[in-house]
Amino acid sequence: MRKISAEYIFTGKSVLKKGIIELDNNGKIISVNDTEGKLKESASLEFYNGIITPGFINAHCHIELSHMKGMISNDTGRGLPGFIDEIISKRNFPEDLQKQISKADKEMQLNGIVAVGDISNTDDSFRVKKTSSLHYHTFVEAFTVSNKEAETTFKQARVNYRKLQTENLPATIVPHAAYSVPDKLYEMISNFENNKPKIISVHNQETPGEDELIKEKKGELAKVLKDKGFLLDDFSYAGNTALEVNLNYLNKNDNILLIHNTFTKKEDIKTAENFSDNIYWVFCPLSNLYIEKTLPDLPLFFSEGVKTCIGTDSYASNTELSVLSEIKAISRNFPEINFSDIIKSATLNGAKALKIDDIYGSIEPGKTPGINLITNFDFENMRPKPESKIKVLA
Ligand SMILES: [Zn+2]
Repeated sequence: MRKISAEYIFTGKSVLKKGIIELDNNGKIISVNDTEGKLKESASLEFYNGIITPGFINAHCHIELSHMKGMISNDTGRGLPGFIDEIISKRNFPEDLQKQISKADKEMQLNGIVAVGDISNTDDSFRVKKTSSLHYHTFVEAFTVSNKEAETTFKQARVNYRKLQTENLPATIVPHAAYSVPDKLYEMISNFENNKPKIISVHNQETPGEDELIKEKKGELAKVLKDKGFLLDDFSYAGNTALEVNLNYLNKNDNILLIHNTFTKKEDIKTAENFSDNIYWVFCPLSNLYIEKTLPDLPLFFSEGVKTCIGTDSYASNTELSVLSEIKAISRNFPEINFSDIIKSATLNGAKALKIDDIYGSIEPGKTPGINLITNFDFENMRPKPESKIKVLA
């Protein structure tokens, strides 16, 4: 058994000054004690100068793209349309892909990540997921260019989904984005195994051109899609925004993870929250800065009190897979956002989104959430410094 304490413990639900966590040798929490800052010295106590948090939940990643570091330029100024153009033409499958995926998996562990919501278009990552100590929920993602291709695309997704099921790895089949899933395919996805609540993820409002495309089938994104062979006649885009198109197809009982939301407005938040109580807004700030050179209106989302989560996205649009680095980016750009709300996004909210909050997401008796220490913390302003580091304690 271990007893651990630090200047502050962010449990995921509350903040304890010099609280004490007791855990067993498997990292399972036995008790959490609030000392109200009055800690008594004891020989068996490990005390750390820093803050303690539960293990992080990376709510959005594409680990199968881990070999693409630096392959997509981040200075074209073309935003998402340019990114899509490049990723379709440059994506390759090198011989050492398995090694790169395995390396990314280890990197996430060292960065205090305990669970991942991971997008898969192929089965490349399944081998690593099978043996990893991280929890993965795989979003088997589908998109295609026309209704004619819908059946083949869906069949392939179902093959990958079954492979994961055979290995007892949690998974669901999900749409890529409102603009890239033709009507017939979206119907197949939303009707698939919908007798019980699922976890769905969809890229949402990542670029300003997305809503323009939905409304008028015009603009830079429309041009790139047409160049890539998309038959836009097969996309009805029923709605005024990408968000509305998605909600028209999705089931309100499912957990719906909306990814990016870089150009989501206040009325969109209202629309989604009115649609369902199970909306999770997932943000990948460093990826947004890489691709679109802009950030979502995060203070708006946090002040609305909606369920926010954090993801790293992939090496195609990020230089590392670190939730702490995403936290730093949020805190640096928006110091007005309460740090404990950011930690909740990185832990408890992500665990709820992936339906694993019985084990992960908060430091509470009975859970095995993983224990992170963040050092070099700015206690005066209660936020991380650029040089803050992470150490996995359990
Ligand atoms: Zn993504």
